[in-house]
Amino acid sequence: MDHIPEVSFMDAEGLTVKMTEPAGDPNADAYTKFFMSHCCYDAIPTSSKLVIFDTTLQVKKAFFALVANGVRAAPLWDNKQQCFVGMLTITDFINILHRYYKSPMVQIYELEEHKIETWRAVYLQYSLTSLISITPESSLFNAIYSLLKNKIHRLPVIDPESGNVLHILTHKRILKFLHIFGSMIPKPRFLQKRIEEAEIGTFKSIATVQETATVYDALSIFVERRVSALPVVNAQGKVVALYSRFDVINLAAQKNYNNLNMTMQEAIEGRSCCIEGVLKCYPHETLEIIINRIAEAEVHRLVLVDKEDVVRGIISLSDLLQALVLTPAGIDALFS
Ligand code: ADP
Ligand code: ADP
Ligand code: AMP
Repeated sequence: MDHIPEVSFMDAEGLTVKMTEPAGDPNADAYTKFFMSHCCYDAIPTSSKLVIFDTTLQVKKAFFALVANGVRAAPLWDNKQQCFVGMLTITDFINILHRYYKSPMVQIYELEEHKIETWRAVYLQYSLTSLISITPESSLFNAIYSLLKNKIHRLPVIDPESGNVLHILTHKRILKFLHIFGSMIPKPRFLQKRIEEAEIGTFKSIATVQETATVYDALSIFVERRVSALPVVNAQGKVVALYSRFDVINLAAQKNYNNLNMTMQEAIEGRSCCIEGVLKCYPHETLEIIINRIAEAEVHRLVLVDKEDVVRGIISLSDLLQALVLTPAGIDALFS
């Protein structure tokens, strides 16, 4: 692609942005400008549920509380420090199960007994050390940058005056905002490119799981590959289901986290609420079709398949936000 660097400037939060324009398309950076001109506050729904955990709460109770409240993540409040210190997400549940699970005959003592702060003391040696948040006045462009740069899926919006968490922003919410309020924006020409030529997504080394594999095998892949979902494939390599990190919370909902030897087939059949079938896309489909499908289905990714339903790639919201918003601003892929 022929990129001509245009202007280079520093935005309000000190992020250097180099606007580029592929020759001949004046709308190439339309989505970048859209997200630069809207702030995080604009994307906060008028009403939504927010659950906060004290770090002295037991981890098991915290995961049950996520289920009971139908939320995917919660900010963590440290009463001693009087501030938010991190997030608890389903990835943490996966990491705890994967680290401490022994067999169906042995209770996971650490899950039963540990407090959130005990778990964090162990886990933080290897991962993020402090809360990543954003202010309501920051641009949505900066929110996208932070989500992608830090490879996280939950970004709390914190009011600097009160210190209160107002909302937890996600890729899904941001794309929905574009879908609702960006319909009048002139469309960049690259939306008409077929996915096979646009090269947006991951097409090599796709992490998948066999339907006969165990749930523990799937958790191991989540931990080792750090992917957000696994296409479930049969012996012929055809995709038959999708198992995302979110689905792992069913183990807490159904209290069967002590049996991680069950097969993927059993885990998938046992999901209490899930999307029927697999949301897919094909190499000949355009980027625009793919964006509409992913936004309307409200999922985090589509599985790219060939005519035989064999997995060829993953197109996730991270890939789309990178291509639609960051790449036109001269910011190269933040993950690989
Ligand atoms: P999930 O996809 O399961 O919701 P994430 O990918 O967002 O989870 O989380 C990955 C890891 O990063 C988890 O250990 C989580 O606690 C941590 N994390 C997520 N969001 C934040 C944040 N805003 N600040 C600090 N840590 C975070
Ligand atoms: P999150 O909101 O945490 O990002 P996901 O979009 O990963 O959640 O998953 C929410 C639900 O949608 C899960 O039950 C998951 O299996 C399902 N799901 C996500 N992507 C797909 C897909 N491409 N095909 C079928 N189901 C999907
Ligand atoms: P996500 O965590 O889904 O927002 O995606 C971050 C990056 O990982 C994106 O480039 C995705 O295309 C890629 N990705 C997501 N799931 C998989 C998978 N199962 N195998 C390989 N790459 C993946």
